Amino acid sequence: MNERIYVLDSTAFYAGIPLKGEGRYYSTYQVLGEVKHYSLTSQFIHSRVQVLEPSKESLQKVKTVAAKTGDSKSISEADISIIALTLDLSASRKEENIVLVTDDFAIRNVAEVLGVNLSETTIRGEWKNITWITYCKGCGKEYPNPKATVCDVCGTKLSRKPGTTKAA
Ligand SMILES: [Zn+2]
Repeated sequence: MNERIYVLDSTAFYAGIPLKGEGRYYSTYQVLGEVKHYSLTSQFIHSRVQVLEPSKESLQKVKTVAAKTGDSKSISEADISIIALTLDLSASRKEENIVLVTDDFAIRNVAEVLGVNLSETTIRGEWKNITWITYCKGCGKEYPNPKATVCDVCGTKLSRKPGTTKAA
């Protein structure tokens, strides 16, 4: 039987994914570093999420693709690490179903080019009519100005996530 393995970025942690269901969850030290201010990063999370270090080869592969797609500026070391870990797991566990769970636009963009299976944390399928929210992964502050690039509270590079879809 093909078991599904979920690789979680910080948006997946903020969506509470490890609290739901009985999936097998993986993440990286860098991602857990980004969500460290969040109460979910507890012993409970560590008991459910296996934390691994991606290979140097995969990290380099992700950086190369991010440079080509123009996502280098909006992608963090943690973002790179989680895509690289998904590549490593996909290569070493061919019989299993590896899915990268993220709402981060830049991560999705780079992962798609690398042929990684993707899942959103909250939005299903339809990516039209989405309002993007610029926010800080470090402290959670949201920025109405989409041109903001760095958090004025904690200095973290800002990310984007989908907001609520426009009412039909
Ligand atoms: Zn911040």
